[in-house]
Parts: sequence; C-alpha cells; structure tokens
Amino acid sequence: EFETCGECAARLHHWVEQHKKYTSEGKCAEYIPALRYANQEALGVCIIGYDGEIIKGGEADIVFTMQSISKVISFMTVCMARGISYTLERTDVEPTGDPYNSIMRLELKKPARPFNPMINAGAITVASFLPGGTKEEKFAALLDTLEKLLGRRPTVNEKVYTSEKKTAHYNFALAHFLKAGGYLECEVEDAIEIYLKQCAIEVTVEDLAKIGLVLACDGFHPLTNKRLLPLEIARLTKAVMLTCGMYNASGKFAAFVGAPSKSGVSGGIMTAVPPRQHKATPFHNGCGIGVYSPAIDEAGNSAAGVKLLQHISTKWELSVF
Ligand code: GLN
Repeated sequence: EFETCGECAARLHHWVEQHKKYTSEGKCAEYIPALRYANQEALGVCIIGYDGEIIKGGEADIVFTMQSISKVISFMTVCMARGISYTLERTDVEPTGDPYNSIMRLELKKPARPFNPMINAGAITVASFLPGGTKEEKFAALLDTLEKLLGRRPTVNEKVYTSEKKTAHYNFALAHFLKAGGYLECEVEDAIEIYLKQCAIEVTVEDLAKIGLVLACDGFHPLTNKRLLPLEIARLTKAVMLTCGMYNASGKFAAFVGAPSKSGVSGGIMTAVPPRQHKATPFHNGCGIGVYSPAIDEAGNSAAGVKLLQHISTKWELSVF
C-alpha cells in the first residue's frame, strides 16, 4: 500500500517530536569554539524522493557548516579531476575503527598512506590534491562540484573557519605527518586552509538531501535528467560512506540504519538511500536525507540524528541490506 506524501510528512513530523529527547544524550562540539553556540535542542530533517517529493520535519531551516560532510565532496572532486586510481594511491578506502582525528596509523608505518578519505588524515590529503595550482583554485574546484549539485554556489562561514583555525592543532599535526610522507601536494598551511574552509561551507538539511539523492541515483539527477557524477565515482563514494562515513560508529550505523551516510561535528548527517525492492514502502525508488541536530555523541555523530535515522529506516525499510 502506497502512502501519500501528506501522510509521510505527518508521520515524519511526529517522529521528529518523539526523538528530540535524544538531543540530551549528546553535546555540541566545543573544540571548535564557534560551534558551541548552536541550539542544543534543535532537530531538523528533510527527505527528497526520486520523483521530487519533499518532506521536512522539525527545525529544517537552520543553516549550519558541513564539517566532515564536505569530505565526500572533495573526494568526488579529486576522483573526477584526477581519476580513481590516482586518488586511491593517495588514500586507501579501509575503515579504521579509530576516532576521526586519530594520528596513530600515520605513525605505525612511515610513510603511511591515510586509511580512508572520511577521516581527517585522508581528507587533508585529498584536499591538497584538489585540481589547481593554488589554494584558491583548489578550493574553487570543490565549490564548482557543490554548485553543480546544489544549483547555487555555497558560502563559507568565516567565523567558524577562523575559530577552528586557531585550535586546529591535531589537524596541523596530521598535515605535518602527511607532508613528511609525501602525501600532500601543497604546503601544510595551504592544505589546512583548504580543508578547514571546506568544513566551514554553509548548508541546510535540504542541501544535504539533494546531494544524497544524486548519490542514491548513482550520480544521476532524477529531476533534471542530467548526470552530475560518473557512475563509478558515485558507487565508490557510497561504499566509502557506508564503511567509513560515521567514523568508529560506521559498523553499528550500517547494521541499524543501513544506508551510506556521512556525518559532521556540526551535527549534520547526509544519507543516500538507493532504490529498494519493497515497493510498498515510501521512497522505495530512492531518496536523499539531510538531518541536523548539533548535540553529538562520543564518536562525533549527531546523537538525536542517528536515533531518528534509525527509526525512519526501521519504519520505511531504508536499509540496503
Ligand atoms: N573540522 C572538523 C575537524 O577537522 C571536522 C571533523 C568532523 O566533522 N568530524 O576536526
């Protein structure tokens, strides 16, 4: 039995209200001082389906910074500009089970190729290999990809950027290790600048749902009939999101939500739900989901966001398994 969009929207609204209580199980990231001022209790979601149906719930209009969700965009940009094998020579695609900013594996073997592009080590390497001869050109290449996906050129939150730069000691340490190992194309300072700027790009849950939908459709935009990403790159990216996108909680997330996703410490989560076989469930042709709730758990994932996605996935059978 198909559900109308109206029914789905009402249900989603109800689920958001039910899940707001889980915001108290997390805390806003404080190591980036500017993120401390987010509304701890906010929870917002947007789902966009294959036929363009869109539903929203909760605080869905808040603008927040992408943080680690931007790692998906830089990875795809480098893959598109330089090829998949070139990119994978510079970052592997193996999950670590370590926190996102861990330096441990760069020290175990020297020089060490970063384990995957969804943790900071891999993402700083990827940022340095964005196409272009200068840091400005490299960052512009990343914005070009986002502009294609969103239909607008997004802005950078300068306050978040400068605030993080002052306290980015772990990221600088990672970048120095990577530079010493030959895994940066530019200078440490430039790589950090590009990486932190990409983390400070501003989006809404609707933006995340849009990108998630294109990934769900293997790089194809179902509403404009345009291919925005090559199939192999969309597929590779979804595999990396599923195995590494939620950091050291990726296994549990795959088990209980079961859709390729990427989180950021600002509290955003971007999910791509590919088409599924159960025709009687909403969004069975695939959808993109954006979630925002700034209180994050120990792994750095939105506490209420993960719980809400788990609930939606259970009710509407979103798991790819
Ligand atoms: N800018 C953050 C950092 O480098 C991004 C991390 C994240 O979102 N998990 O620490």
